[in-house]
Amino acid sequence: MLNMLPRNRIVRALLVIFIVAYANAKAADIKIGRFATTPDGGWNANAYWLESDEGIVLIDALLLIEDAKLWATMLKSLNKPVKGLIITHYHHDHTGGINTLLNELGPFPVYSSKGTTDTHEASNKFSYGFTTSKYGDRFDTTLVKPDHPIVGKEEIELAGIKLIIEDIGPGESMNATVIYQPELKALFSGDATVHHTITYTTENRSMEMLHQLRHLKEAYNEVDLIYSGHGDPAPLAHIDLQIDYIEFSQNLAKEIIAKEVYKDPKTGNINREIIDKYSFFIMDNFKVLTAYGFPQLQMTAQNLIGIIQEFEK
Ligand SMILES: [Zn+2]
Repeated sequence: MLNMLPRNRIVRALLVIFIVAYANAKAADIKIGRFATTPDGGWNANAYWLESDEGIVLIDALLLIEDAKLWATMLKSLNKPVKGLIITHYHHDHTGGINTLLNELGPFPVYSSKGTTDTHEASNKFSYGFTTSKYGDRFDTTLVKPDHPIVGKEEIELAGIKLIIEDIGPGESMNATVIYQPELKALFSGDATVHHTITYTTENRSMEMLHQLRHLKEAYNEVDLIYSGHGDPAPLAHIDLQIDYIEFSQNLAKEIIAKEVYKDPKTGNINREIIDKYSFFIMDNFKVLTAYGFPQLQMTAQNLIGIIQEFEK
């Protein structure tokens, strides 16, 4: 039968088989690892590594020195060089360990989008007082700037692993970067998506967050799993739950502004009883979503206040 086929068809068939086998082998050769911290110390933040025959690529860097050291010890046991670190955003629970990782495993280049790089100082300043007063010496105050900023959306290769890095602009943080690994169909979203936990709307950008989430759904619709900054990996459909949570909170924020005397007219102080009443209502409607780092009510209330302030502007 075979010798009846035209020669060029046989060559083409063999080529297709080779390409499929090669692509599969490549995906199988990349391993994803996740280091998840505890709620008390590390706010349940995740950091990831991608491993190939050639080396290791790190994504995000945890909050506390002790966690970064423990992670570095685990990574050293793999006996492979670290080819680079990619930072998704400059909240301390993802950047606090950069300097420790560089000391333990470096030198290696630090990547992020240009937008995230440009806002790294302002972002650090925003929560510096809070983090240093809460964690003292357990937090390394050395601020490391990414030395490889990516403009827009760019494909790079580290440790033989193809990585598409995209600047998705402001949202949950002042600026966010996502990383896509096409063979594994894996999206590393930082905190642009968070899984099984409520999302952080405290920084008054819930509208931009919705914009980002819709963009991710559209631009990465072939994704198998999203690996987020908090919570377990989840399929793309998990984004819908996050959109529901934000829209539900936005509607309540609008209702509070329209109907409630939620602010002391003299001091401008927000009435926490009113905020808590609405926060309990949100928590009741999103029972599957837990909090990270802080009590559920505190995080829900600060999120709601964040959206109210955004809509007051
Ligand atoms: Zn985070």
